[in-house]
Amino acid sequence: MISVYDNTFILVYSIAVAFLLGAAIGSFLNCAAYRICEGQSFIKGRSHCTSCGHELSFFDLIPVFSFIFLRGRCRYCKSKLSPRYLITELIFAALTVGCLLRFDLTLLCLRNYIFLCCLFCLTLTDLKSYIIPNGCIIISAAAWLLYLPFSGMGWKDILFSVIASVVYGGGILLISLLLDKLLKKESMGGGDIKLFAVVGLYFGLVGTLFAVIIACVLGLIFAAVIKKKSKEGKKPFPFGPAIAVSSVIMMFVGQSITNWYLGLF
Ligand SMILES: [Zn+2]
Repeated sequence: MISVYDNTFILVYSIAVAFLLGAAIGSFLNCAAYRICEGQSFIKGRSHCTSCGHELSFFDLIPVFSFIFLRGRCRYCKSKLSPRYLITELIFAALTVGCLLRFDLTLLCLRNYIFLCCLFCLTLTDLKSYIIPNGCIIISAAAWLLYLPFSGMGWKDILFSVIASVVYGGGILLISLLLDKLLKKESMGGGDIKLFAVVGLYFGLVGTLFAVIIACVLGLIFAAVIKKKSKEGKKPFPFGPAIAVSSVIMMFVGQSITNWYLGLF
C-alpha cells in the first residue's frame, strides 16, 4: 500500500507537528486534571506557580521547552517544578504521534484521539485523587456514538458493541459487589465500572475480554509497586490507570490480538 508517509519529508514533518500538538494538549490535560482534583474551573483563571503563586506568562507555558530552558525551576521563585509536567507532556506527545501514524488523518483517528485525551485525563485524576470524572466517560461515549454513521459498522456489530458494554460493565459491577461483600470494603469505584462499560463500546465482545485481562494484570503490577513504595502500607490503589493503559494497548494492537485469538478456532 502506498502511503503519504513513504515520503521522508512528510513523515518527519507530520511527526514534528503531531509531537508539538500532543505536548500542548498533554499540558492542557495535565492542567485540567489538576484543577478537577482541586475542584477549580479549568476554563477560567490563568495558570500560576503552585509554590509561589506567581502568574505564569506565555513563555513559562510552552510545553516541554519551557521546562528544559528553565531547567525545571520556576522563573520567579526558583523552586523546583515537579518533573511530572515534563513526563506527562512527553508521554502524550508520543501517544499523539502514535495515533496519527496508526490511524492516519481520518475520522477514526479523531475519535480514538478524543478517547486517548479522556483516558489520559482520568489517569492523572485517578492517580492524584482517586477520581474518574464523569466528563471523561461521557465525552468518550459521545465520540463513539458520533463516529457510528461513518464507521461502516453493520447493525449487528453495533448491537454486539452495546451488548459488550452492558455485559462487561454489568459483569464487573456484579463482581465488585461480590468482592465488597467478601472483603467487607469497597473493592472498585463506580468510575472504574463506567469506564469498563465505555471500553466495551470501543472494543466489542472479544476485544474487551482482552482489555479486562490486561487491565487486571497491570492492576496487580501497579498495586504491588504502590504497596512497595508507600511506607504506611495500606493505601488504596487506583484501578483507572490500568484500564487506561490496557485500552491504549487494545486501541493500537487490539485488532491483531483478536484476529489471532479468533484464528485459533
Ligand atoms: Zn514560583
